[in-house]
Amino acid sequence: MSGVRVDHAVTSGTFSLDGETHQVDNNLWVVGDDQECLVIDAPHSVEDILAVVGDRRVKAIVCTHAHDDHVRVAPALREAVRAPILLHPDDRPLWELTHTDELWDADLSDGQVIEIGDTSLTVLHTPGHAPGAVCLWSADLGCVFTGDTLFQGGPGATGRSFSDRPTIEASIKAKLFALPGDTVVHTGHGDDTTIAAEAAALA
Ligand SMILES: [Zn+2]
Repeated sequence: MSGVRVDHAVTSGTFSLDGETHQVDNNLWVVGDDQECLVIDAPHSVEDILAVVGDRRVKAIVCTHAHDDHVRVAPALREAVRAPILLHPDDRPLWELTHTDELWDADLSDGQVIEIGDTSLTVLHTPGHAPGAVCLWSADLGCVFTGDTLFQGGPGATGRSFSDRPTIEASIKAKLFALPGDTVVHTGHGDDTTIAAEAAALA
């Protein structure tokens, strides 16, 4: 039995790219035990994130990709909790659209294992929605955090700059549909789904 749990909240703000701005609700995921946790993405509000973290030590801020609705408050959160920001380096062009004078702290890579409490998350590089998009899979917890790569109802958006539909489909089929079918998918926006449900829909 793992003492690690998943905490969740929804936080609201904006997403801007290619000269358009949209109002968005982002899922906020925190994975950890009573002592320490990982924050997955840093959308919109440091206060909202800290409310979920509580008095736990933040081990790292792990970014699923660098769209501004996922990383806008990452540097401010880093300042508040003194934890490193982790991002796949292929998302540097997107990161620099939001943060021009500061970088993240350490690169994510495919297959990397991030330990938390008595369990771990495995990094799956899943380009397509963004070149450096990653998913974070926990076999122990039976879930995967997909950011904007896979939603309930299908792949994430690929209509904007730095996105590509064939690439996201290839990523999802190779990396996500290889996971057990009952794996719960915790998305960047909207409701949970499962790998089996989405595999059936995209077949
Ligand atoms: Zn996105």
